[in-house]
Amino acid sequence: MPFSLLHPRDQIVTIMARIYGHDMTTTSGGNISVLDENGDMWITPARVDKGSLSPQDIVCVAPDGSVKGNHPPSSEFPFHLSIYKARPDIGAIVHAHPCALVSFSICGQAPNTRIFPESWNVCGKIGFAPYAVPGTQQLGANIAAEFASKDQPSCVVLQNHGVVVGAADLDQAFKRFETLEFTAETLLNAGSLGSIRYLSDEQLAFSHQPRTLPPETAPQPATSREKELRKAICDFVHRAYAHRLMTSTKGSFSARVDADTFLFTPYNIDRRELSIGDLVLIRNGHRAAGQTPSRAYTIHSAIYNAHPEINAVVNALPVHASAFCASDARLDTRTIPESYLFLKDVHTIPFDLQYAGTEGIASLIGPKNPVALLENNGVLVAGLTVLDAFDRLEVLEATASAILRSQSLGQVHAMSDAVIQELMEAFPSMA
Ligand SMILES: [Zn+2]
Repeated sequence: MPFSLLHPRDQIVTIMARIYGHDMTTTSGGNISVLDENGDMWITPARVDKGSLSPQDIVCVAPDGSVKGNHPPSSEFPFHLSIYKARPDIGAIVHAHPCALVSFSICGQAPNTRIFPESWNVCGKIGFAPYAVPGTQQLGANIAAEFASKDQPSCVVLQNHGVVVGAADLDQAFKRFETLEFTAETLLNAGSLGSIRYLSDEQLAFSHQPRTLPPETAPQPATSREKELRKAICDFVHRAYAHRLMTSTKGSFSARVDADTFLFTPYNIDRRELSIGDLVLIRNGHRAAGQTPSRAYTIHSAIYNAHPEINAVVNALPVHASAFCASDARLDTRTIPESYLFLKDVHTIPFDLQYAGTEGIASLIGPKNPVALLENNGVLVAGLTVLDAFDRLEVLEATASAILRSQSLGQVHAMSDAVIQELMEAFPSMA
C-alpha cells in the first residue's frame, strides 16, 4: 500500500516503529508530527511507550490550539508548531535523540554530509540550534530561526539534545532522519580511523549526471529461475536493511538469470518495502516496460559482461565498512581466516574513477577480487550466487566492525604472508 495513502496517525505509528526498531530512539524520547490538508497537526503523545504505540494514541492539535485524543500531545509540540510556521514547505517532522547524532549534539557540532553523494543529496547542509529547556517557546524560537535561516536546512542538530528533521511528507522526513544518523555514525567511525575525506561541489555533481536508460520491451512470462531469484533478492535486501547494510534509500542488488538476462533492484524504492514485482528484468539490453533500474545497473552490467562466472552483485552502505570508504585508512582483511578467504585483498576504487566509465570498475572486481571499497560511495561486492554475494557483504561488515572496535586494544596483528599462503593451500577452492 502506498505510504502516502495511510492516515497520518497510521503513518506516525509505522515510522515510530521503524525508528524504535532500529534503536534510533528510546521509549521516552522522540516525537513525530504530520500536518494535514486542514492544518491539523497529528503528533505522538506525551509519556507513552514508543515501543508499543497504536493509532489510538496519536493526538490531533487543531489550528485553534484545541486538542483531540486520548493523551496530551508531546511536550515538545511547541517547536513542531514553530517549524511549520517558519517553513510552509515542511509537512512532517521527526525528532529524536539517536546516539550518533547526540554525539555531535553534545560536542556542539553538526555533521558534514559531504562524505557520500547519498548523504548530501538526502540531507543537505545541516543546521545547529542553541540549547533551551525542552518544551519551551524559547526552544521553538531557536529551532525555527535555524530552519528559516539562509540555507533553509531540512535537518537541525539541537545543542545538548538531539536532532529535528523536516520534509514535505513523513516518508521523506524518515529517510532523511535515517540517512543522517547513518552519516553521523559513519563520520564517528571514520574519524577514529584517521582523517576524513569530503567531496567537493564538482564531485557531488557527478551523481546528478543524466542517465541513459535501456529501451523498454513488453514483459514476458517469468521462468522458474527468474521467480526463484526475485524472491532471493528481495529476502536478502530485506535482511541487508534489517542488519543496517543498506539504508532505505541506498543499496542495489542484482543477479544473473541467464547469459543475457538480469534482475536489478529498482530506482527509488524503499529497500525495506521492496517486493518481488518491483525488481526490474533486463533482457538483451531491454528493460521491462514501465520500470526503472537503480543507477548501479550500468556498473553491475559491466561486471557481468567482463566476468561470466559472476552471478550476483551488491552495492551497499554498511555503517562500519563505509567508514573505511570515507577515510584514508586501509581495510586490511588479514585479520581472521574467514575474512581473508571471503574478501581477499580489498582495494579502494577512487571516487572520480567511479564516474569515468564502467569498464574501469569491472576490471577491478571479479572472482579473484570480489570486494571493493568505493571511495566516498559505499562498498561493491560480487558473488558466484546471490547467497555468496550477501555472505561476503556480511563478512566485510563484520571485519570492518572488528577492526574499528579493536582500536582501543592496540595494534592489530595482521596474519603474515606465510600464514596466508598456508591458509590458501588449506582451502584451494576459495583461492
Ligand atoms: Zn527531545
